Amino acid sequence: MTWYKTLRFKCQKNCSDCCKGFEGYVWLDKKNIEEIANFLKITTKEFLKKYTRSVFGRISLIEIKNNFECIFLKDSKCSIYSVRPKQCSTYPFWKQNISSKKAWEDVKNDCPGIDSEDAKEFTKEEIEDILNS
Ligand code: SF4
Repeated sequence: MTWYKTLRFKCQKNCSDCCKGFEGYVWLDKKNIEEIANFLKITTKEFLKKYTRSVFGRISLIEIKNNFECIFLKDSKCSIYSVRPKQCSTYPFWKQNISSKKAWEDVKNDCPGIDSEDAKEFTKEEIEDILNS
């Protein structure tokens, strides 16, 4: 039983708050790696060497050391937007973020897209689809 019927969100694209400011991991699966390497017109081997690190046996994008910005954030915009990792395209609808009203309210403090004036209303089914994508 979920605590919500719908949730409202629209990414405020010039914001990029979720792409910087705190240390973290952006996990990549095989599909993400291939898509981004293709997009950059380099081999997956080159991509892995230049833009990723191995953490706990998984692959994550690297970030800028002094401010934790995502390596692909350029002028406050995602430079690989059309092939951005699933972790990014599904934010803020992550399991832990929608697990309770409190968790969602906490994320809202960091993401101005939640309940923004132009937000789209997502039904439970739509959110399930995003979670299972
Ligand atoms: S913090 Fe929210 S509104 Fe800002 S870029 Fe990320 S998803 Fe979009």
